[in-house]
Amino acid sequence: MICHECGAPAIGICKFCGRAVCKDHYTTVTPIVLAMYLGRQNTPKAVVVSNVLWCGKCQPQPEPIEIPEFF
Ligand SMILES: [Zn+2]
Ligand SMILES: [Zn+2]
Repeated sequence: MICHECGAPAIGICKFCGRAVCKDHYTTVTPIVLAMYLGRQNTPKAVVVSNVLWCGKCQPQPEPIEIPEFF
């Protein structure tokens, strides 16, 4: 697995586009709201994930995701 930018050994995969990135070319995004949902008593809540590995090149787009039941 090598970095798509420079060919160096990659440390991870971009969460959004799947490209491999090395330690010099990755960045992180914080925080990302993955999903909004209504909790009990209709309180809006957000599912947030932090420190997602991102290549810094692609443009993450909000897209529908499947939300497991929270019960
Ligand atoms: Zn690189
Ligand atoms: Zn990417």
